[in-house]
Amino acid sequence: DVVTRFAPSPTGFLHIGGARTALFNWLYARGRGGKFLLRIEDTDRARSTQEATDAILKGLAWLGLDHDGDVVSQAAGAERHAEVARAMLEAGHAYKCFSTQEEIEAFREEAKAAGRSTNFRSPWRDAAPETHPDAPHVIRLKAPLEGETVIEDAVQGDVTIRNDQLDDMVLLRSDGTPVYMLAVVVDDHDMGVTHVIRGDDHLNNAARQMQIYRAMGWPVPVHAHIPLIHGPDGKKLSKRHGAVGLEEYQVMGYPATGMRNYLARLGWSHGDDEFFTDAQALEWFDITGIGKSPARLDFKKLDNISGQHIAAAKDAALLQEIEAFLAAAGRNPLSADQSDGLLRAMYCLKDRAKTLPELLEKAHFVLADNPIEPDEKAQKALDPVSRGILSELTPQLQNASWTRDELEAAATRLAETHGIKFGKMAGPLRAALAGRTVTPSVFDMMLVLGREETIARLERAAR
Ligand code: GLU
Repeated sequence: DVVTRFAPSPTGFLHIGGARTALFNWLYARGRGGKFLLRIEDTDRARSTQEATDAILKGLAWLGLDHDGDVVSQAAGAERHAEVARAMLEAGHAYKCFSTQEEIEAFREEAKAAGRSTNFRSPWRDAAPETHPDAPHVIRLKAPLEGETVIEDAVQGDVTIRNDQLDDMVLLRSDGTPVYMLAVVVDDHDMGVTHVIRGDDHLNNAARQMQIYRAMGWPVPVHAHIPLIHGPDGKKLSKRHGAVGLEEYQVMGYPATGMRNYLARLGWSHGDDEFFTDAQALEWFDITGIGKSPARLDFKKLDNISGQHIAAAKDAALLQEIEAFLAAAGRNPLSADQSDGLLRAMYCLKDRAKTLPELLEKAHFVLADNPIEPDEKAQKALDPVSRGILSELTPQLQNASWTRDELEAAATRLAETHGIKFGKMAGPLRAALAGRTVTPSVFDMMLVLGREETIARLERAAR
């Protein structure tokens, strides 16, 4: 059975690259009835914070990436990691090294001067235990000196590293604490991880991690190192490209469904499909669809996918996305009346909004406090001539049956009697009904508001 994991270091916010890694692992596991585990790699005590862990959990929750079992703390496993280092020592796969920092430096200087590899070769590698001093020491892996270490990577293909290019890495520091590299391998083994899907910035680590797997005789999980995300200009993603934290995207008002779809497409593809549902992503996602070259962030595409998800969403689900957005953006929550209004208007709001704030902007006519305060443009649209025409419309609306056809007919008739195109009336009507000039269609607004409220707004504007 498939077991994947997301193993972030809690040292900041949740980077969108990290969110994408989490999503790939989640899709791979969930699409196969497997498990998706979460491990917080908090061994760097100085840099790890609870706030960072909270931000990671919040980001995953927003994206809907639920994990199985408890959150694993890597730091909590230190004793177990040290135990594995000692087991390797027992089995002859590791050794005690008493070389001091100065001696190691001196070795490197000398090697450099002689034009040899500066990889440290410890004189203690084959020393008999009787010769060991009673002094501080580290435990080093007794790595193979010849041959090569191959990472059979499901994305990159075989990556081969000559063993003479790797030194005997430290497993346990002189204070008895395990190194990160050991912790990762032991945790992945103990957690039963079958597939390690992560950024290719970890490819270098993978060679050393392979050596630990081999020394322990443990099965090696499938590795898939995915290319990092680049900015629109093809350079490594950084702050200057815009938002890099997942939370920023939530605050910009992208719905979680759209973000999930977009992130899945960053570095993975399924034919020409750009827009898809969660069910499709779960069915389609596979490591074979992951590209070898870095995906570029494309905000246009994100807007596009986001808009399609807003249009396709069920009203109640969209309302939930909106509520989450308002909370994340630090904006006021919706009142019960506003939620009702929004739900009634949703059908005419969904179609053209790329983001949730855009949708809310168009929803002004049901969200604003009554009576609506027209903005500057709306005030301009309500010039005396327009107000005169509006005042003639109200009596006609008194008796019209409240259907789109009849409303349209009444407005068109009125425009004709004034010898103008209906288009000329639309601006003042928008201004009267919404206090804005960018709104859904006037007839949709009338249908949503109902006769009484429509007439009240027109009369107020005509005064
Ligand atoms: N903690 C590492 C990171 O945040 C990930 C390590 C791994 O996935 O093996 O980059």
